[in-house]
Amino acid sequence: MPELPDLEVIRENLAARLLGRAVLSLKVRRPGLVQAGPSDLFPLLGKTVREVSRRGKHLVFHFDENLFLIVHLMRFGWLWHGPSRYEVTKATTLSLSFDDGTDLRLIEPGTPQIAAVWLYSDLSQAEPLKKLGPEPFSPEFTLENFSQALRGKRRQVKKILLDQAIVAGIGNAYADEILFWAKLSPFRYIHTMTEEEIERLWRAIPETLRWAVAEIKARVGGDLFDKEIRDFLYVHGRAGAPCRVCGTPIGEVLFEGQRTNFCPHCQNVGQPVSK
Ligand SMILES: [Zn+2]
Repeated sequence: MPELPDLEVIRENLAARLLGRAVLSLKVRRPGLVQAGPSDLFPLLGKTVREVSRRGKHLVFHFDENLFLIVHLMRFGWLWHGPSRYEVTKATTLSLSFDDGTDLRLIEPGTPQIAAVWLYSDLSQAEPLKKLGPEPFSPEFTLENFSQALRGKRRQVKKILLDQAIVAGIGNAYADEILFWAKLSPFRYIHTMTEEEIERLWRAIPETLRWAVAEIKARVGGDLFDKEIRDFLYVHGRAGAPCRVCGTPIGEVLFEGQRTNFCPHCQNVGQPVSK
């Protein structure tokens, strides 16, 4: 699933391609794709893209006349941008054709197709964005606010990082990387952590994500991509491989049904709590 760093690069590259382009035609190719707004998305016809932003794991396309198209790629969705004359594949669930002869297409191979879009005329009313916590790169993501959000919680730290209401945009892979960067075991309970450890975690969140944005950008340049680019990660997806810092084999357990990877040495993991 694309997470903040992937989406940030996609956002930047889409903005470079789409700003100032007007929608000539569009087609919603999967019934039920549009979660809010008219299901045909026709209000977008003739409108120009003014901005592409990101909120958590959502991309937001800002059009003329305060129209906001929100896209969540979910697990396997991806965005394609290229010549409109290219054949539309069966897995395409939405296509927008622009006045420069290009298409933006939402593609979701396999079933069930769960990627979703919303159309709003007022972003403050956008349901999927309402419950999101602060953006890790924003001034609102202060140590004070973060500590406040953790107060009274008795949950393992990895679950905290995955909670979009506490901090937006982090998924399974980057939760693991952040915890490696912070030298914290994913199995620690948040209420057992010292202030110094909380601060280390808070610092590691934007640092890890910024590093990942730069690594992905260095690999794709201005291109879009349909696969997760994760070869540079230190722990996630590297079970059994030697830790790049200390050489200890990277550990793996299933945690809430998802793979969790960690370095037993660098992250001082005792007996992992496995479910
Ligand atoms: Zn290590």
